[in-house]
Amino acid sequence: MPGLEDLYREIILDHYRNPRNKGELPVPPAHKAEGHNPLCGDEIEVYVEVVDGVVADIKVRGQGCSISQSSASMMSSAVKGKSVDEARKLVRAFKAMMSIHEHALEADAENEPDADVKLGDLEALRGVVKFPPRIKCATLPWNTLTLGLDEATGS
Ligand code: ZN
Repeated sequence: MPGLEDLYREIILDHYRNPRNKGELPVPPAHKAEGHNPLCGDEIEVYVEVVDGVVADIKVRGQGCSISQSSASMMSSAVKGKSVDEARKLVRAFKAMMSIHEHALEADAENEPDADVKLGDLEALRGVVKFPPRIKCATLPWNTLTLGLDEATGS
């Protein structure tokens, strides 16, 4: 289905060229988490502010390949305004999508994402699973978000 692949490429490039929620937030009240992927040289800084269990604001800075930077942009727009629980569900669903290829033969039930989690534009990154070295590029912003949420919620 080449039409869909073109659309996905367009979404990824759009987020790479026009990154959403780019910048920094004052710490505190925001929490900052850093992640890097030495295999590719990607670096991500996530600033997340949690108010009453909701991701009230999020900013991302970083440098690296188009997959890591567009994934960071998509992540920031996907979780902003969501509850921390919803954000964590989204992290699980995204990482499950990224591991479907590895676990395809095992039909690994514990990696099944929650059925009620909608990935939307994040589906654009699904094609990355065909290139295993790039999976870490795509998941880096999400792992960094998890660190930030853990700090912000003291868990
Ligand atoms: Zn990368």
